[in-house]
Amino acid sequence: KDKIIFVFLRQFCDFMVMVLLFAAIISAACGETVDALMILAIIILNGVLGFVQEYKAEKSLAALEKLYTPESVVLREGKEQVVLSENIVPGDIVILRQGDKAPADIRLTEAYNIETEEAVLTGESAYVEKTSAVIDAVKEISAKKNMVFSGTTIVKGRGMGIVTATGMSTEMGRIAGLLDSAGNEPTPLQLRLKSLGKWLITICVGVCAIVSVLGILTGGDVYTMILTGVSLGVASIPEGLPAIVTICLALGVWRLAKYKAIVKKLPAVETLGSTTVICSDKTGTLTENTMVLDKVYIKGRWHLITELTDGDLGVVGKVMAYCHSLRESAGSMLGDPTEAALYNGLKKLAPNLCTTKKIDYENPFDSGRRLMSVLVDQSSLVKGAPDTVISKCDKVLTEKGIQTIDDIARKSLLREVDTISRRGYRILALAYRENIVSLKDMENSLTFGALVALADPIREDAVESLKISAKAGVKTVMITGDHSGTAFAVAKNLGIADNENQIMLGRELEEGVRPIEDIRVFARVSPEDKMRIVRHYKNRGEVVAMTGDGVNDAPALREADIGIAMGMGGSDVTKEAADFILSDNNFTNIVHAIEEGRGIYDNIRKFVRYLLSSNLGEVLTMFIAVLFGFPLPLVPLQILWINLVTDGLPALALGLEKPGKETMERPPRPKSESVFARGLGAKIVVRGCIIGFTAIGIFLGAIMVYGDMTLARTMAFTALVFSQLFYVFDCRSENDTPFSLGFFSNIYLVWAVLISVALQCLVLYNPWLSRVFLTSPLSLEQWGVILLLTSLPTFIGAFWSFSKKKLKNIFEKQEK
Ligand code: ATP
Repeated sequence: KDKIIFVFLRQFCDFMVMVLLFAAIISAACGETVDALMILAIIILNGVLGFVQEYKAEKSLAALEKLYTPESVVLREGKEQVVLSENIVPGDIVILRQGDKAPADIRLTEAYNIETEEAVLTGESAYVEKTSAVIDAVKEISAKKNMVFSGTTIVKGRGMGIVTATGMSTEMGRIAGLLDSAGNEPTPLQLRLKSLGKWLITICVGVCAIVSVLGILTGGDVYTMILTGVSLGVASIPEGLPAIVTICLALGVWRLAKYKAIVKKLPAVETLGSTTVICSDKTGTLTENTMVLDKVYIKGRWHLITELTDGDLGVVGKVMAYCHSLRESAGSMLGDPTEAALYNGLKKLAPNLCTTKKIDYENPFDSGRRLMSVLVDQSSLVKGAPDTVISKCDKVLTEKGIQTIDDIARKSLLREVDTISRRGYRILALAYRENIVSLKDMENSLTFGALVALADPIREDAVESLKISAKAGVKTVMITGDHSGTAFAVAKNLGIADNENQIMLGRELEEGVRPIEDIRVFARVSPEDKMRIVRHYKNRGEVVAMTGDGVNDAPALREADIGIAMGMGGSDVTKEAADFILSDNNFTNIVHAIEEGRGIYDNIRKFVRYLLSSNLGEVLTMFIAVLFGFPLPLVPLQILWINLVTDGLPALALGLEKPGKETMERPPRPKSESVFARGLGAKIVVRGCIIGFTAIGIFLGAIMVYGDMTLARTMAFTALVFSQLFYVFDCRSENDTPFSLGFFSNIYLVWAVLISVALQCLVLYNPWLSRVFLTSPLSLEQWGVILLLTSLPTFIGAFWSFSKKKLKNIFEKQEK
């Protein structure tokens, strides 16, 4: 982070300031002390303005970094607590789950199949198995199998351990020193504007040189002409642009935070506006994730959960009670919502079964395997996706005891799953195997016990958001590991899909035989399939936003144009890979984020339009005068003043516009589209010319009518300022007129304009300033002419767009 004073001093190391300093020296050398002092004053004012903008930009960027701070789960006073990882101290007991990034060096006291990736530390990319066992003292990091090291990732399993070292004392801290966070890289637009800026500087310097040389050749005073060239150069370079873009982006990020979307990578804000496809998870994003156990299929029949007793459950009850990775904390069970639903269902039905037992071994759930098993009292208790579990069963629990299962029976079970899942239930199968002698046998030759059906209502607000995004030309596809029947039922309720041809299974995706153009639901997908989906859309030129929560989703999130990690329940690994984090997992907020993203881009276009038109107007005024051998319409200080009054505050206020009504009613902007696309370039040139011609016209007219050069210059000077102050209202929207928007709907802009008007009046009416700036006071009549002519384009523009809309309405009515 830069010290304030450096940010301030940096303002004066600019090319433009150098040029101005040069001008001040020339002025002083020619004995024009007042000019020299005024130029110095303007340099300082410009510097202060630049400083305020840049300081604000830096501060908001720094604050952004604090929006996302990693958290960890620790056990303190017997209770599980979520704390900021930076607040963890040696001695803390940390709970580690799949996908976590270890917040400190931790000695494991409990380890269930834990494997970590330590490449950051050892360079070794193979996963390392960990244990809680005691190990003789060893030196090498790789041999310390009962330690999990800060900064490494838990790729499998779960566990618990005591913190032995934090911060700089960890192995990581020792090796790396403090690792700097990646920082905020510039966005593509910022880069493009930067190169545009270079271009503009070249052109401006060229034009200004021509003005100076032509001026001198046509008999102008050398000193005045050089100073004019320099001032014009300074005025025509839109130096405020980069800082305003940054402020705009940073402010947008704040507004996004209100919608629970935490931006991690600044360029994402810009990409958001061009999103064409959202690939969304189902559970928790499109559904409420308040899962409830509703029905159980046991011994050939479906039962409502309320109809069952613990006697009906038998071994199945044991599976429900122990086969999970939930942790108890202060009387409730925390962890995977699917598992919690199952456990809480059991608790209502048979509370006596809900005890804790020693788990001898655990194969945790993994969305690739879709299966989980635990070893308790030599029995393997298994649950998982029905198709997977049923294929591993060779016996089934029936009314008449345990029977062998054949293909017909398997098919009939799968039909059962199919039928019930079409009602939107998430289905799990429960199975078991007794007398396990080898861990290898935990997941084969199982006995099928039961099917359970969990209900999870859809998010009502998502339905509305889906409509909005569809209108905005953004397609939403649902991606889920769930059964196709469940997926379709949910998608249909949400309005994402309306016929079953729009569903594709992960398996089909892998085979790649069916085209996926019209697919709206991908069911039974694995994390690798997610990658395929992203690639497919990207190959078609779409801009893809993809959500994810599991460890294995990280590569797909990285591949997507916009990776969105789930804030609740999402793993550290996905959060790290993501461009932004959705703290509340809510789909609606993805759509809000897209709207904000579009709004931010629109705002950037607004002030690019404003600044460039205005500067073009100024340059043109001077250029035409020199070209035709007229007297100069502005003196150098006046040029610098216009730049100061019009470029700073009003342009900044444009960046504070809220997204317009039509933001989500047009298709996404092509990703590579130029800032000047959709007619913006033409608008800039046309209005720039109008501003220039108006000023020249007023200048020449005033010479003819009043025959007073100082007055004519004052009028041209004031006309340029007011042209821009009226124009800034036009720049607020590309479709609406200032009249339909209401002049007061952006109150910052009104204030900015009022301040600029007051400053202009100061230069005209303060006797001292008026002497320095060579102005004379204006009469009512002269004010009238200036205000009328400078506001005319705004009125004409509004009238033109009003009549165009009216005519369009009439034609449309006639066509009907
Ligand atoms: P969604 O998009 O709805 O969040 P997902 O892609 O996360 O779904 P997974 O969690 O991978 O889906 O679940 C796939 C299937 O695995 C589910 O349909 C369910 O049958 C089964 N399943 C889910 N959670 C568990 C679990 N904790 N233990 C065992 N099986 C599970």
